Amino acid sequence: MNTIVAAEIITIGDEILFGHILDTNTQWIGSELTAIGILPARKTSVGDRYDEIIEALRRAFDRYDVVIVTGGLGPTKDDITKNTLCDFFGTSLEIHEEALAHVTAFFEKRGRPMIEANRMQAALPKSCRYLVNHWGTAPGMWFEKGGKVLVSLPGVPYEMKELMTHSVLPRLKQFFALPVIVHHTVRTVGIGESFLAEKIAGWEDALPADIRLAYLPSFSGVKLRLTGYGTDRELVRKALLSLSDSLLELIGEYVYGYDETEIEEAVGLLLKERGATVSTAESCTGGYVAHRLTSVAGSSSYFLGSVVSYSNEVKESMLGVDHESLRLYGAVSGQVAEQMAEGAKERLQSTFAVSTTGIAGPSGGSLDKPVGTVWIACAGPRRTVTRKLQLGTLRDVNIQLTAMHVMNMLRQELKHEPADR
Ligand code: ATP
Ligand code: MG
Repeated sequence: MNTIVAAEIITIGDEILFGHILDTNTQWIGSELTAIGILPARKTSVGDRYDEIIEALRRAFDRYDVVIVTGGLGPTKDDITKNTLCDFFGTSLEIHEEALAHVTAFFEKRGRPMIEANRMQAALPKSCRYLVNHWGTAPGMWFEKGGKVLVSLPGVPYEMKELMTHSVLPRLKQFFALPVIVHHTVRTVGIGESFLAEKIAGWEDALPADIRLAYLPSFSGVKLRLTGYGTDRELVRKALLSLSDSLLELIGEYVYGYDETEIEEAVGLLLKERGATVSTAESCTGGYVAHRLTSVAGSSSYFLGSVVSYSNEVKESMLGVDHESLRLYGAVSGQVAEQMAEGAKERLQSTFAVSTTGIAGPSGGSLDKPVGTVWIACAGPRRTVTRKLQLGTLRDVNIQLTAMHVMNMLRQELKHEPADR
């Protein structure tokens, strides 16, 4: 196998650190490097300060094979990357004829006068290779030293992307014998990260050295991302798939899909396979579950509709929840969740219906029903199941978690239904 080529991405600019802009350059570069088999190992953001920049360059170039720098190349005084690079590589600036012709043509084409500061954009460190910027005046620069590469690019995202795509990535592929990097993600729901880790500990310990595992928790469950390195894409992919298959024996009940599949898509597939339909009766999620289910293209073939029954009156009039239950147990109760789901199933004539009722917060709780108390239910052809969730106090998080849990409840009920009814 080829050895791993590792990279650091350095973004320069006070505006990133002050929070004025989001550093999208690093994200984009990271995914592009991965795609050609270079491992992004570190990212650094520094302000427009000489000593910060030079220290970041030194540390990165010491440790990694590839360093990609963006920002600080403009004609203004705050852009000092070029001078810093000169000092770093022990060279000096010199007008690059091709770059000058490019800048001159750029201004002529737009009918704008050129001042000295613009001319200086064509001044490049002597030891670099000039990379033409088709979308702007700040050139890209490619440095090689000791078998390593450092590239400096403008900060403007579309200029940076153009240079990366047409100059940098093809050159990197030529310069290094790159391995392939393949990702395969197994998506789980309904089990916490540490429980998952415990269940698959033996499997994880036995992973080969060229395959890595990452746990990625989110509101929609924990994703297990396998990353494999090798020379042959198909072989690496096969190795990952076989590992992911062996994982099913350990945690199959929690796995709802792979790679980019969201739980609403997994639920949609199960509904289609079973020729079943679904509706929702939502209180604390205010239609969010319906929104998630209908965000899937083609959901009209199984999603019938929703009743957003926020008030008790609507729970009674639209879903047939019984007045006595509301009075005796309260709107946030297993009894009401159950009746909401059954009411929606009956009135909307769907095979399945799910319901949510709870105190999303941040206020509105009581001693016996604190904020974060949520009941969910799923009514199906054969039975209705209910479940109590005890969540936290953040409204937005509670809504997302409730949606995830109720979609997972539907998924589990669907799995118990025979396919092709
Ligand atoms: P210019 O020639 O336009 O001055 P530059 O190379 O000097 O380009 P910067 O001055 O650092 O680049 O940034 C120019 C603009 O590009 C910023 O105002 C910002 O909007 C955007 N930008 C810079 N760095 C990033 C980044 N890491 N992620 C996203 N956008 C960025
Ligand atoms: Mg600038």
